[in-house]
Amino acid sequence: MKASTILSELGISHLAEAGDIAVHSPINGELIGRVASKTVAEVDAALAKAQDAFKVWRNVPAPRRGELVRLLGNKLRERKRALGSIITLETGKILQEGLGEVQEMIDICDFAVGLSRQLYGLTIASERPGHRMAETWHPLGVCTVISAFNFPAAVWSWNAALALVCGNAVIWKPSEKAPLTALAVDRILHDALKEFGEAPEGLTCVVNGGRDVGAKLVSDRRSSIVSATGSTEMGRAVGVEVARRFGRSILELGGNNAGIVSQTADMELALRGILFSAVGTAGQRCTSLRRLFVHESVYDKTVERLKTLYGKVAIGNPLEQGTLMGPLIDESAFNRMQAALEQAKREGGKVFGGERHVVAGNENGFYVRPAIVEMPSQTEIVLKETFAPILYVLKYSDFNEAIEANNAAAHGLSSCVFTTDMRESERFLSASGSDCGIANVNIGPSGAEIGGAFGGEKETGGGRESGSDAWKAYMRRATNTVNFSSALPLAQGIDFNI
Ligand code: NAD
Repeated sequence: MKASTILSELGISHLAEAGDIAVHSPINGELIGRVASKTVAEVDAALAKAQDAFKVWRNVPAPRRGELVRLLGNKLRERKRALGSIITLETGKILQEGLGEVQEMIDICDFAVGLSRQLYGLTIASERPGHRMAETWHPLGVCTVISAFNFPAAVWSWNAALALVCGNAVIWKPSEKAPLTALAVDRILHDALKEFGEAPEGLTCVVNGGRDVGAKLVSDRRSSIVSATGSTEMGRAVGVEVARRFGRSILELGGNNAGIVSQTADMELALRGILFSAVGTAGQRCTSLRRLFVHESVYDKTVERLKTLYGKVAIGNPLEQGTLMGPLIDESAFNRMQAALEQAKREGGKVFGGERHVVAGNENGFYVRPAIVEMPSQTEIVLKETFAPILYVLKYSDFNEAIEANNAAAHGLSSCVFTTDMRESERFLSASGSDCGIANVNIGPSGAEIGGAFGGEKETGGGRESGSDAWKAYMRRATNTVNFSSALPLAQGIDFNI
């Protein structure tokens, strides 16, 4: 499938013609488009327009706002194949995963439509006679979404679908490595807005550019909510900046996710779970499995079988059926992977795989063999997130020790245990178990569903998006006390009579 065909099918070929950001497909290095970074004045104008739009949108009844998101979900259903293809073209993830990402967008739209009738507040018992207390939830303002390259569309939708039904305007600063996907989504959203007919101008927009454009949006107090997805380094800068002006941030940062394989694990199931989460998306998911702790009694067998499976992974053009692993995003990702493997060797690691893999016809793509690295302990490199398909494998003898090892990383995004021992699984999920935002049993750490809140602790940033009550981060809460009596009793029984 040619890039130009996909771009014109999505109606964005004319938008991908000129500009300072050159977009190369990781599949073969081909230049597939050019996009212009926004100037400071354009960012300023987008913020001003979004704020005006917010003032109108906040008064549209929430179920009516849900209608816009319902239309978006329908348009995404119609354009699933084309949008999935552009995601693959721009990120190198296999088409199955590109389509999966669009499905995730559809799912969150469905969820948000239901939510638009369920933005419930509490009623609270008042201590004063003739009084009633309640909580009301109101739209907050402009939600600025900064997204990473690896989920170039879904991350926006997790935020935007909720932010819109919650009554906010949305500005999107996509990754400079995946701006075409953002333009394609914006085009689809534009169709939904047109059909909806009554949304204020400037309610949503895409602001392309690099970290300077992101930084401008982040420092502006008109960005009431900044939802930033990317590296911990980025989150550190963004978090401080937003806190400086007492804005609200939702930080979805790196992960150094672990899995435990107990001696009681269902081994066939565990191996499949490990393979998908360590190798899927070429190890470039925030939830990719990076550290594996295997009970000493099943260690040799597990490593041997994993190596056999790794040898069978079909690496190649991600648009072709049967491919399980596409390329890394670019050359610097490849260099970082190689540097990590070298460091692992210096720290006592035994490396299997990890070398460059040349794919005929796509010689300019950075394809690699996924790596398994047996480590003597959690050295410096093991405790660092390297965004590549490297799985560090370590032996453990005692389950408590494995939980401690799981929690030793600075990040706290996702984790899992493979066990058939109920005590082990419950211990893993307990207060003294995994310290991550996501803790799974008998599935890998990646591939979350939208129904649950998504996010993690510690250096993952603490933000939550998507399902459960994540919507509350997009609204402001007002506590209301109403006195329907003719007296004025004060709280705590305070006497203030003249
Ligand atoms: P990145 O940090 O390089 O860039 C992410 C986004 O932040 C880009 O849009 C970039 O332009 C912007 N940015 C960078 N510095 C900024 C600054 N100072 N101010 C404002 N904006 C700034 O990340 P990446 O390489 O695109 O993605 C990979 C990283 O993202 C990994 O660490 C991965 O774990 C993480 N990630 C996390 C999640 C999650 O939900 N927790 C999801 C996907 C990716």
